[in-house]
Amino acid sequence: SSQVPLLAASGMSKSFGGIKAVDNAEIQVATGSITGLIGPNGAGKTTLFNLLSNFIRPDKGKVVFDGEPIHHLPSYQIAQQGLVRTFQVARALSKLSVLENMLLAAQKQTGENFWQLQFQPHVVAKEEKQLEQQALAILESVGLAHKADDYAGGLSGGQRKLLEMGRALMTNPKLILLDEPAAGVNPRLIDEICDRIVQWNRKGMTFLIIEHNMDVIMSLCDRVWVLAEGRNLADGVPEEIQRNPKVLEAYLGK
Ligand code: ATP
Repeated sequence: SSQVPLLAASGMSKSFGGIKAVDNAEIQVATGSITGLIGPNGAGKTTLFNLLSNFIRPDKGKVVFDGEPIHHLPSYQIAQQGLVRTFQVARALSKLSVLENMLLAAQKQTGENFWQLQFQPHVVAKEEKQLEQQALAILESVGLAHKADDYAGGLSGGQRKLLEMGRALMTNPKLILLDEPAAGVNPRLIDEICDRIVQWNRKGMTFLIIEHNMDVIMSLCDRVWVLAEGRNLADGVPEEIQRNPKVLEAYLGK
C-alpha cells in the first residue's frame, strides 16, 4: 500500500567477527499491523531486533520510526519514542511482585523526572496512584490481575511472557517487538497469549513478532518477513509465505 509504515528499516548490517549476522536487511511494519519475522535458527532475527532498538549498534543501516530517523538514538530514547521490545528470556525481577515489576517498567521511562518528583510528596502520591491503576488495568488485560501481588519468580513460562508484554505496555508504546512470545509456553497458554495480542492489536497496538511456532505466525500475522543467513528471503501475506518454495527450502535445508 502507499501508506507510510510505522517502522521502516533498510540496509541493516551487523557482523560478529567474520559472521554476517544481518546482511543488508530491510523490514517494514505497517501501522496497526501484526507483522511476523521468521527464519531458520541463526537467521539473524534477534540481532535485527537488537539493531532496530539499538541494543546493538549496527555497522550500517537506517531506521525510520513514526516518520523520524531513530538509528542515532540510544535505546532508552527509542523506547521513549514508543518502540519497545521484549526479550526471548524474560527479564522480570523474580524477587519483586508482578505489580512492582510493572511499576518498574514505567519508572524507567520517566527517567530523571521521576526522581525530581520525589521532592513533591503529593505529586508522587498522585503519579504513583495513576501508575498503579494503569498497571492493574494492563495486568487485567493480559490475564495476570490475580497474580499482581505474587512474586514474579513464581510465574509459569507463559505467565512470564504475559508479564513481559504487560511491562512493554506500561511504557505506552506505539510498537512492541515481541521476541518468541510462544517459546517455552504450555500449549494451552499459547492460545491465551495469541488472544491477548489480538485484543491489544484491535485496540490499535502494532506488533512485530519473532516466532518459531508457525501456527502462531500464520494465525496472527497480516504480513510476514523471512530472513535467512542474515538476508531478506521473502515477504508477503502468510498464505504466500507458507507455500513459497524458497522459504520451504531454507527451513528444510537446516
Ligand atoms: P534463533 O532463531 O536461533 O534465535 P536468530 O535468527 O535470532 O536465531 P541470531 O541470534 O540473530 O539469529 O544470530 C545470527 C547469527 O549471529 C548466528 O550465527 C549467531 O551465532 C551470531 N551471533 C548473534 N549474536 C552474536 C554475538 N553477540 N556474538 C557473536 N555472534 C553472534
